[in-house]
Amino acid sequence: MENIAEIRAICESIGCEYRENVPLCRYTTFRIGGPAPFFLLPRTTEEAAAAVKALHGKVRIVFLGKGSNLLVADEGVDAVVIHLGQNFSDVEVDGETLVCQAGASMSKACAAAWKAGLSDLEFAWGIPGSVGGGAYMNAGAYGGEFSQVVAWCEHVDEAGKIGRFVGEELEYSYRKSRYSGKNYGITRVAFRLEKGNQAAIGARMKELFQRRREKQPLEYPSAGSTFKRPEGAYAAALIEQCGLKGLRVGGAMVSEKHSGFLINTGNATCADVLELIRQVQQRVREQTGFVLEREVQLLR
Ligand SMILES: Cc1cc2nc3c(=O)[nH]c(=O)nc-3n(C[C@H](O)[C@H](O)[C@H](O)COP(=O)(O)OP(=O)(O)OC[C@H]3O[C@@H](n4cnc5c(N)ncnc54)[C@H](O)[C@@H]3O)c2cc1C
Repeated sequence: MENIAEIRAICESIGCEYRENVPLCRYTTFRIGGPAPFFLLPRTTEEAAAAVKALHGKVRIVFLGKGSNLLVADEGVDAVVIHLGQNFSDVEVDGETLVCQAGASMSKACAAAWKAGLSDLEFAWGIPGSVGGGAYMNAGAYGGEFSQVVAWCEHVDEAGKIGRFVGEELEYSYRKSRYSGKNYGITRVAFRLEKGNQAAIGARMKELFQRRREKQPLEYPSAGSTFKRPEGAYAAALIEQCGLKGLRVGGAMVSEKHSGFLINTGNATCADVLELIRQVQQRVREQTGFVLEREVQLLR
């Protein structure tokens, strides 16, 4: 970043909590990643909007949720990171609508839905991200995905204007939304749910969580499934078929338990993971013809 003094002065003038040189490995489930030169923690949507407006055109801005789908470069990021965390974690039930601030965890949202006897969010129980990250990614599991339940998202656009996308305007498709590739900040998400049976909702959540525990290497840092599901196949099955379980580069390894997960065995770097991704993609392409596209977002 060339204009550090200018960006520092702007960050100081915004009035929200900000820190410098924050190691992002502390904010990612992979436990990998160098520093963010500037790290902002706005308290309100208006504060986030003011920050974006002040920084617009001067520096790249990246919104960070719970870092559960991120691979951050070892040398850190050339951007101001805006983290919607604790300050954005309210969840409210309004009839059959669940309105969540973007930094709320998926587990908090799912628990609130269960408590209110609202169904259709059970699939997301156990996804370790934030509601905002899920809305960005169109996160999904076990036949459900955000696109089926999101009514609207409130955001701060790239120029700092507060707006909303409703229903079809979100342009959801597999692990994609209208926000993909943009630097909008999602600040609130509303889910349209259905009245259901609380005991049945709880039982379904428990069952799905159990499946995760049995199938996924939750004891290791990772970012979940590394690759998207290619048309007509499953990434994990292809990787296993190619004999790549346990393949290692440095501290990064293809999980023995779930070959769709690349895990950090303790001291993996971003470079290790990227090289492992490259090798897996190459071997799968050569041996099966399928092209594996990365689902995990690379942040540099
Ligand atoms: C053990 C494990 C299991 C997982 N299981 C699943 C699963 O079943 N299904 C699934 O879909 N995913 C799964 N994931 C991946 C991940 O949890 C999801 O993609 C999740 O939705 C990411 O949310 P996050 O808050 O962590 O986003 P982050 O990782 O912080 O960010 C991901 C992307 O979203 C953007 N983003 C985040 N928050 C905002 C915001 N408020 N406004 C704008 N952009 C934002 C970021 O800039 C980035 O591009 C799993 C991950 C792990 C580690």
